[in-house]
Amino acid sequence: MSASRDYDVIVLGGGSGGLAAAFRAASHGARVAMLEPGELGGTCVNVGCVPKKAMWLAADVAGRIALASALGFDVAPRPALSWPELVTHRQRYIANIHASYRRRLDADGIAVVPRRGRLLDAHTVVCSDGVRISAEHLVIATGAHPRRPAIEGAELGGVSDDFFNLCEAPAQVAVVGGGYIAVELAGLLQALGSRVEMFVQGARLLDRFDAELAMQLAENLRQQGVRLHFETKVQGLRQAPDGRLRVVGANASGPAFDKLFFAIGRRGNTDDLGLAEVGVKLGERGEVVVDAWQTSSVPSVHAIGDVAGKLGLTPVAIAAARKLMDRLFGHQPEARMDYDNVPTVVFSHPPLGQVGLTEEQARARHGDAVRVYCSNFRPMLQALAEGPQRSLFKLVCVGEEQKVVGIHLLGEGADEILQGFAVALKMGATKRQFEETVAIHPTSAEELVLIR
Ligand code: FAD
Ligand code: NDP
Repeated sequence: MSASRDYDVIVLGGGSGGLAAAFRAASHGARVAMLEPGELGGTCVNVGCVPKKAMWLAADVAGRIALASALGFDVAPRPALSWPELVTHRQRYIANIHASYRRRLDADGIAVVPRRGRLLDAHTVVCSDGVRISAEHLVIATGAHPRRPAIEGAELGGVSDDFFNLCEAPAQVAVVGGGYIAVELAGLLQALGSRVEMFVQGARLLDRFDAELAMQLAENLRQQGVRLHFETKVQGLRQAPDGRLRVVGANASGPAFDKLFFAIGRRGNTDDLGLAEVGVKLGERGEVVVDAWQTSSVPSVHAIGDVAGKLGLTPVAIAAARKLMDRLFGHQPEARMDYDNVPTVVFSHPPLGQVGLTEEQARARHGDAVRVYCSNFRPMLQALAEGPQRSLFKLVCVGEEQKVVGIHLLGEGADEILQGFAVALKMGATKRQFEETVAIHPTSAEELVLIR
């Protein structure tokens, strides 16, 4: 650690990755400054995972009320929701997170600078008020922003950030995209009272997930009332005199929409950071190009989280940040993020989770050595209420020892079930070890140890 500089490390960004970096560096005794011009917590806490999960939970409750009605409870199948009241609860939860970060930053002696930062050289940052500060290491943790397509009228549409400003469910909504955000927004808006149409440029949803489960998920969305248009490219947007939106080039004769959301991927926040000027190499999606140790082409400049362009998930940003700080300040020269077998969940209704290889990836890599086990079943609550929804669980195994290399779950509880099984997969468990584990009955999770 160098005394000739103001700090040992300056972190640009106080989102998932930046906060984790600051806390871990401080725990190793480093002198830390963190720049954050917006709300603490970044995308995840303010316009991502947390408010999204709050809305998803509300949508889940709506689904359970409908099931309760079908089971004989004396409740209306679709009782009215006060959206503003839900938003009040959501924002109170978020305000508590801000306060707890603030307390922890103070307690750990981290200098929080409420300013945007820009690199002047490989060790110096200029804050948006002109103040210059220096450090041995600079960490870029500035996240990413939603992309908009280059089409006529694109500015008439919203992005995921705008979804969180809604005060009620718009009557007719279009969602453009077929990835995580499109699927999540479509499902929860439909459950909370909107009529949703999805415009997907490809032939399927979620192309990083198992094809069979993605197909079942599309079927679930249809059952919930979402209209899906595959291989449909939106070419433009026009506003009708009543303010409603019409899609050009797709569904042109269909309904006008009250809102349209683009969910077509995100781009790294690297503009105006002075990175190219100091020699930091950038990739095609605006990301900082980093090596396996999160270090850029300039040895004192590192990047973590969405801006590093690998897996855009909060726990990945946090894990990469902690490993980097352990390496720089914690005497752990080998510490680095392992990007293999990262579990992930799409918060659809029901959720879709996966860890490891998809069936397609496993077959491409291991050919005939792959064996796949599937269980397609109706979870008990759905069966009792005579609901149509089915669960689809899949294990992908390889070799004579049947090592489990992929776990794919679409169904109630998948979001909670997957974490423990991800530990087993990461430890190299075999199908036989799954079978030797006694089932917990009656649950959906037991399918994973009973699957044949
Ligand atoms: P961010 O959290 O975006 O933080 C970057 C911070 O940098 C921001 O606060 C910004 O103000 C600040 N900043 C920008 N420029 C500068 C500058 N020049 N100087 C200083 N500071 C700057 N992931 C999950 O794991 N689970 C989920 O359920 C999930 N749901 C999501 C839902 C939505 C709608 C979205 C959009 C994302 C979701 N994600 C989810 C992804 C997750 O939010 C991101 O992967 C995560 O927030 C990335 O953290 P980060 O620290 O890299 O960036
Ligand atoms: P994704 O990368 O998941 O999906 C982007 C989608 O947009 C794809 O279907 C893509 O189609 C489509 N697309 C790309 N360009 C266009 C275009 N010009 N016109 C129409 N469609 C287009 O991005 P998201 O925006 O959904 O989410 C961003 C990231 O945020 C995710 O990748 C994930 O890392 C993170 N996230 C995580 C969540 C979670 O953990 N639950 C939830 C939400 C976000 P194609 O495949 O054909 O290119």
